[in-house]
Formats: sequence, structure tokens, C-alpha cells
Amino acid sequence: MRYVLIALALAACGGRQQWPGDPALYGVDLVVVAAPGMPAFVSAPDLRDQVRRDLELSARYFGHDTDELIGLRIILQNDWLSWEKIGAYRPDENTIVVAVRDFSCLGATALPHEVLHYFIGDPNHLDPRWLTFGPLAQSIGCAL
Ligand SMILES: [Zn+2]
Repeated sequence: MRYVLIALALAACGGRQQWPGDPALYGVDLVVVAAPGMPAFVSAPDLRDQVRRDLELSARYFGHDTDELIGLRIILQNDWLSWEKIGAYRPDENTIVVAVRDFSCLGATALPHEVLHYFIGDPNHLDPRWLTFGPLAQSIGCAL
């Protein structure tokens, strides 16, 4: 019976794994992997406010609602994911992983790009919205 309930819960959420998130962060579970050499913005007291703002602007820019972010996990880590990857959305884990090393602010990381992957998938970047990040990047900007 328990497995049936879990299956029903997954089906109700579009099959995505649901992470217990922060209601003040649109239900997103934010994980910061502490490591030496992390940029200063990661330990800023307003980091969660920055993440919230980036999520709000990204969702709005892509025509989605922040309510759709519930259950998503976002991991900020220092290192790149591989020699060429600075971010990824992993649908099987319903998790965005973003490298923060080499960036002076959250808005310059791959977070908005990965949020679009979260909303529309499209691993091969065929949607025209991949080419129109300019206005979003300007609105997010760097607070530093
Ligand atoms: Zn991509």
C-alpha cells in the first residue's frame, strides 16, 4: 500500500521526485556544498533572497509560475561538473546542480539556464528561448 501511495504522489507531481523544500523559497530545497575557495556571494547573508529573486525572474521570463518549482532541489557546489559543464538539470533526481567557482555573483552562474531546462527539458537546446537570455541576464544582473 505504501508503494501505491508513493506512486500516486509521483504521478500527481508529473513523476518528478519531490524534495522537501523551503516555503520561503517557492518550495525549493537549496543545498550549498561547503568547500574551500567558494566565492563570497555563496556565504552572503542574503543568498536565499538572491536565489528567490533569480527563480522568480527566471520563471516569469519563461512564462511559468513559481508554484511549479515546488519539490525542486538546487545544489550549489564549487567545482565544475566536468571539464566543460558549469551546470545541469538532472530530471531523474529533479535536481539542478550549479558550479559557483569562477563567478562573482549568483546571476552569472548557469542557474537561469538550468531553470529553463527544469521547465521545458529540451536537452539539445532546440527551443528559441535559449537564444534570448540577454534581457533576463540584465534583469538578474550582479548585485556585487
Ligand atoms: Zn543546457
